[in-house]
Amino acid sequence: MRLILLGPPGAGKGTQAQRLVEKHKLPQLSTGDMLRAAVAAETPIGLKAKAVMAAGELLSAEIVNAIVAERIDQKDCKKGFILDGYPRTLAQADAVGKMLRKRKLKLDVVIELTVDEAELVTRIAKRVEETKAAGKPVRSDDDPAKVPVRLREYYKNTAPLTGYYYAKGLLKQVDGMASIDDVTKEIESVLKKAGKKS
Ligand code: AMP
Repeated sequence: MRLILLGPPGAGKGTQAQRLVEKHKLPQLSTGDMLRAAVAAETPIGLKAKAVMAAGELLSAEIVNAIVAERIDQKDCKKGFILDGYPRTLAQADAVGKMLRKRKLKLDVVIELTVDEAELVTRIAKRVEETKAAGKPVRSDDDPAKVPVRLREYYKNTAPLTGYYYAKGLLKQVDGMASIDDVTKEIESVLKKAGKKS
């Protein structure tokens, strides 16, 4: 099963991806996590990514396409994977389409978690408080000053992907305002149906 989790920052993609990893034993390919690891390790990509990420802006498609292409060729991705935070632009969506076609693979479903903007701001602020309370470092882009930039990036560049995948018959929307458990249940039901089709 190859699926994309789509949704604005704070929609719960990471939380739901974690649950999918456990239940379906599929790897979670989060470009945000991969880039944060590159920043921490101070690799050439990490050095380029640091300031862009801290500002809440998007990295060039070239960089993210390359890291995803390399990642999907790894052994643990053979049975499928969950893309989280990628693709984020129409150009990236075209790129992943090409990547999969080249490998004779197909996408099973694109799940969009829909959440109101005001709720996203509240959730990100809560994430900051919880991270601080746990004594862990807060993500630089969770800074309240950067959140509006990230939301603008989302609505401008990523939201058009819903139309793109709808037109391909792959889009399934899930109400991300529901409780975490209810969202998980809904995603499972979407996956069941998608699994029957393929
Ligand atoms: P995330 O953890 O998915 O919210 O990503 C954190 C940050 O990493 C984003 O705000 C971007 O700066 C960068 N990033 C992650 N994924 C992508 C992507 N697919 N395209 C461009 N930039 C990305």
